[in-house]
Amino acid sequence: MSDKTHTYTNGEVTIVWKPSLCTHSKRCWLGLPAVFKPGQRPWILPEGADTQAIVDQVGKCPSGALSIRMNDEGGRPEDDRSIQDPT
Ligand code: SF4
Repeated sequence: MSDKTHTYTNGEVTIVWKPSLCTHSKRCWLGLPAVFKPGQRPWILPEGADTQAIVDQVGKCPSGALSIRMNDEGGRPEDDRSIQDPT
């Protein structure tokens, strides 16, 4: 079984999804359909709701497939910009 992990961030919070644990309970996409969109790729759009709503919904995942990482707990995402200059 795969241990693959996918991450989706809005710059403030990162949603971590482990597909091998997902039991397709539908709870995330019924609870917060602006963020969890199973018919799309990527299927998680963290810009669809504010951080608190995302944290609350992720906490309701019954399988542990979803978890949260707060971006201010280490690393500064805005620093990533420094490697994007092609010249
Ligand atoms: S709530 Fe958790 S187990 Fe249910 S579909 Fe979403 S990620 Fe999968």
